[in-house]
Amino acid sequence: MKQRHHRHTEQDEPQTITKAVTHIRLEATNAGKLAALDDLAQVYLALCQQYVTLFCTDEPPDKFRATCFVTPLSERWHRVAIQQAAGIAQSWRTNCAQAYQGYTDDLLDYHEQVAEGMLDSEAEAPTWHEWNIPTLSQTCIQANVNVAVLESAQDSTFDYWLKISTLAFRKQLLVPVKLAAYHREALAGKTINTGVTLNKRGDGWWLTLSYDETVPIQTEPSAPVIGVDVGIVNFLTTSDGEHYGTFHGKLRERQRRDREKRRRKAKLRKCLEKKEIKKLPSTTSRSGQRLTRHVRQEINRAVNECFVKHEGALIAYEQLSVATMKHKARAMNAYMRASNLAHIPEQIAWNAAKRGVRATRVKSAYTSQECSACHYVDRANRPNQQTFCCQVCGYQAHADLNAALNIEHRCGDEELRACKDRKAVKALLMGRHQAWQKANGWP
Ligand SMILES: [Zn+2]
Repeated sequence: MKQRHHRHTEQDEPQTITKAVTHIRLEATNAGKLAALDDLAQVYLALCQQYVTLFCTDEPPDKFRATCFVTPLSERWHRVAIQQAAGIAQSWRTNCAQAYQGYTDDLLDYHEQVAEGMLDSEAEAPTWHEWNIPTLSQTCIQANVNVAVLESAQDSTFDYWLKISTLAFRKQLLVPVKLAAYHREALAGKTINTGVTLNKRGDGWWLTLSYDETVPIQTEPSAPVIGVDVGIVNFLTTSDGEHYGTFHGKLRERQRRDREKRRRKAKLRKCLEKKEIKKLPSTTSRSGQRLTRHVRQEINRAVNECFVKHEGALIAYEQLSVATMKHKARAMNAYMRASNLAHIPEQIAWNAAKRGVRATRVKSAYTSQECSACHYVDRANRPNQQTFCCQVCGYQAHADLNAALNIEHRCGDEELRACKDRKAVKALLMGRHQAWQKANGWP
C-alpha cells in the first residue's frame, strides 16, 4: 500500500450512533386503552398525510410551519404530525432530486456514448417519470416528549408506563409496557431517548425505543487503506483482491423466477382489463418483497465479513451517484437495483460507525474506467463486464479489483477531492496519465 502524506480526516470525532430497540408489544391489558390509541392514530395519520401532500407539492418541508388544517387533535399532536410529515417529504424530495440528477447524468452519458459511437446494442435512451406523492399506508407515529412520555414503573410487574395524550382534552392514556428479557438486556445501563415510535401492525401496537451510543474511532492514523468497490456480481471487492457476496447464483435464479411471475400477472391483468373485470390481481409480489429482504441480509453478511477480515484498516469506498449505481446494476431490474445497491454503501457506513472504524468516501467518477497503473481513462479499457485491460500500458486485472485499487488511491487525494464535476476529474486523470507517460519514457 502506498504512503499517503495528506490523509483527509473527516471523522476524527467519536461518532454517535442511535440504536433502536424494536418490537416491544404494548400490553392489551385494557382493550379500551388501545382502542383510544386506534382512534387517535386514524385522525393523526389523515392529518399527517395532508401535510405530506402539502410539503411534496406546494411548499418546501418545514417542521415549524404554522398549522393550516383543521383537526380535533391538540396543538402538540398537530405539531408532531407536521414534524413527521416534513421528515417524510424531505426524504421523498431528496430521493426524487437524486433520481432526477441520475437521469440527467444518464442522459449525458447516453449522448456521450452516441457521440463516441460506443453505444451498447441494447441501450435505450433514458426516460423520466414523475414520482407519486407518498401515501401513508402504515400506521406509524413518531411521537416526542410533548405527546408521549415513558416513565419507569415502580412496584409493578411492568417495566414502564407510556403516558400518551389523546383526543380527549387533558385526558392521558396510560399504557403498560413490559419488556422481554432481551429488550431489558439491550437497554441495561442506557439512557433511553425521549422520542418513541408507535407502530400498528395487524391488531397489535408496537413500541420502538432508542438510545444513543458514542463510539470512539479505533483506527490508527497509520492504518493501511483498503479500497472497496461496490457491485452486483461481487457485492464488495477489496483492493487486496478479495470478493464478498454476490448477486449471481441462487439470488439471481430467485430474481428471474420472481420476474417471470410478475410478467404473467401483468399479462393476466391486461386480459382482465379488456374484459372490464373490476377486481384485478396486484402486480406487486410478495415473493419479490421476500427476495428484497433476502438480498439485504446477504449484503449485510458480506459487509460484516469484509470488516472482520480487515480489522484495523481504514476503509475507502465510493460516493455512489444514482447514475453510477444504475450503470453498475444493468443486470438487475429496476426495483432490485434501486433498493439494494444503495444498501451496500449505507451498510458500510453503519458498520464503520458501530465498530469505530474510520471510513472515507471518495469520488466515484471514472473509478471503473481509469487504469490503476497509468491513470489512462477510456471506456475501451473495459472490453467486458469483468475485465479491465488498459489500452495504453496493457495493465490487466479483474475490473472490480482495478476499481477497488483506484478507490484506495483516492483516499487522501485532495486534488481529486476538489474536482467540481466528472469533466474536471477526467481532465485531472488525463493530466496524471501524461505525467506518467513522461516519467516512464513513453513515446
Ligand atoms: Zn494503464
